[in-house]
Amino acid sequence: MRAILLRFGELYLKGDNRNIFESILISNVKDKLKDYDFKFEKTFGRYIISNYDISKEEELVEKIKTVFGLHSISLAQEVEATVDKIIDFVSSIKLKSQSFKIEVKRADKSFPIGSMDFAKKLGEIVLENNPEVKVDLYNPKTTISVDIRLNKKAYIFDEIIKCQGGLPLGSAGKGLLLLSGGIDSPVAGYLIAKRGLKIEALHFHSYPYTSDEAREKVVTLAQKLCDYVDEIKLHVISFTKVQEAIHVHCRSEYMITIMRRIMMRIAQKICEQNDLGAIITGESLGQVASQTMQSMTVIGGVVQNYPIFRPCIAMDKEDIIDVANQIGTYQTSILPYEDCCTVFLPKNPVIKPTIEKCEKEESFLNIDSLVNEALQTEEIVYLKN
Ligand code: ATP
Ligand code: MG
Repeated sequence: MRAILLRFGELYLKGDNRNIFESILISNVKDKLKDYDFKFEKTFGRYIISNYDISKEEELVEKIKTVFGLHSISLAQEVEATVDKIIDFVSSIKLKSQSFKIEVKRADKSFPIGSMDFAKKLGEIVLENNPEVKVDLYNPKTTISVDIRLNKKAYIFDEIIKCQGGLPLGSAGKGLLLLSGGIDSPVAGYLIAKRGLKIEALHFHSYPYTSDEAREKVVTLAQKLCDYVDEIKLHVISFTKVQEAIHVHCRSEYMITIMRRIMMRIAQKICEQNDLGAIITGESLGQVASQTMQSMTVIGGVVQNYPIFRPCIAMDKEDIIDVANQIGTYQTSILPYEDCCTVFLPKNPVIKPTIEKCEKEESFLNIDSLVNEALQTEEIVYLKN
């Protein structure tokens, strides 16, 4: 019978919390495959999925590959863990490559033959049936693994497919992703979700300075992220009034800094209202003027009770783009619609803002009422995988 073998990664580091992590991971796997019939089995160190429609195997694999906390999977043949049954199956193997080795692992130590001896025996059988093929223990083209588990089943496979790694979605709580239409923030959302954080998202638009298409683009990005994070509650807020007020009352080189500080204040309110525990941005050190150390200090300075996570902080743009391509957001991100931050853009944004100067510029605004007015414009879009 065909089976999919699932291996999990870092969970073993978690000591007493391991059971909680595992139960989240198992329910995430089952949830991801909710549209399919299959049997789920847990054996020490592995999950096994079997009894599924073989014609759907590829689809199942694609879904499983988006589950955080899984390290790798293998498509395997499941046989009863007896010497004869394993030999039966191994005798039927026809190799296409020129060299191979056999690796036997026994989680079940009561299996009557030692791993090395059994591997040797099975190797001889494969050689007999594939006389043109050589054994190569050091650099084989094909490695045939025979994994004998405690459930008295053996799994025979020749490929290990890498998965996402990370920690089970939800095991770290839930945070708020500041989602622009750019390349970086969807990547930031993906990276932080991979460490176990579920996400809601917050987008600011500046309609009518920004278009409906710009907003749709962000909805599309959030929808794509749902492949990994299952569902996103997207908060959409109008930033137009705030920007107009800053434009009229504040020095232009401080415009972006003040905008960001107000975005953060609003984000904090959304966190409070929705029981979210962190703010996530796509900032990367040195990428633009608002992403210097000093800028991040004054922008983050308005946030009191939440950590600000910046998963892209130390990444080069090229590496961020690689991830964006891998998760399928890049082509949407580069669509040429205006972001709210490009409206009234100053020529020379300050690179090293100070708290004192920010506070002076903000004294020309009624921050509380701008924040509250912006919150009144909130619209919610629910997205689901
Ligand atoms: P990105 O590619 O993510 O848009 P960027 O390189 O354009 O990033 P900035 O425009 O300086 O950088 O934005 C920095 C971060 O601030 C973004 O990664 C995002 O987290 C947040 N942000 C910017 N604009 C918006 C917006 N309109 N709505 C919500 N968050 C925003
Ligand atoms: Mg941007």
